[in-house]
Amino acid sequence: MTITISLRLLSLALICAGSCALTAPPQAAGAETPTATRTKTRLTEPKLTIAQVEGEGPAVALTFDACMGKVDDRILDTLIENRIRSTVFVTARWLKHNAAAFAVMRANPDLFEIEDHGENHVPAIDVPMTVFGIKTAGSAEAVAAEVEGGAEAIIAAGGERPVWFRGATAKYTPSAIAEIQSLGYRVAGYSINGDSGSLLGASSVARQYHRAKGGDVIISHINQPTHEAGEGVVKGILDLKARGFRFVRLKDRTEPVSGKSF
Ligand SMILES: [Zn+2]
Repeated sequence: MTITISLRLLSLALICAGSCALTAPPQAAGAETPTATRTKTRLTEPKLTIAQVEGEGPAVALTFDACMGKVDDRILDTLIENRIRSTVFVTARWLKHNAAAFAVMRANPDLFEIEDHGENHVPAIDVPMTVFGIKTAGSAEAVAAEVEGGAEAIIAAGGERPVWFRGATAKYTPSAIAEIQSLGYRVAGYSINGDSGSLLGASSVARQYHRAKGGDVIISHINQPTHEAGEGVVKGILDLKARGFRFVRLKDRTEPVSGKSF
């Protein structure tokens, strides 16, 4: 297979901050963070791009997080009506309240790849601290529970076993990344932050999409139907389509899990 995924670590802009933090589980708010831990812990965000296939034109991967809350039908309808492929990262929390939307995705297996966004939308960080106001998993055992709990919920809902994981806030410690990989998952980064946690205005989101080039992996949210950002996501997708971009899912462009992503 000539297609490869390039994945490297670097610091990227805020992800899933406001909207996710605001809707975090009650136990996530106001947690005390030891100063020593907060100042010494180095968090990383993996960057993910997809390789281009010669002669096929520019391709991008649209990825959406479904943290909790509801589904944004503006985005879901646009993807279906235009037969656009994407990868959706869902939590067990989201699945519990959005069976109808999940059924729509499952009814279009050629369009939607369902992957793991965790069980309770707890950052997959094995050190006790808070990130954007959300209390982290805090231990290796809790990281594993978050990852596996999300996967089990997808399977229980009728989905396929996920192979990619993206944690809440998309931030990790290097040791947590190694652990997630040891569980058999690849850690899904991104290269363009489409909506900054669904907090950007519509025109700003559309601009983020417009700057995509072949190979980019764009992250946005599909769980905030009342936010203006979703309108921008729709504009951005249609703009890329009109400019001849192709849309691929992560599993369309990846090799079997090798544990060598990093
Ligand atoms: Zn999220």
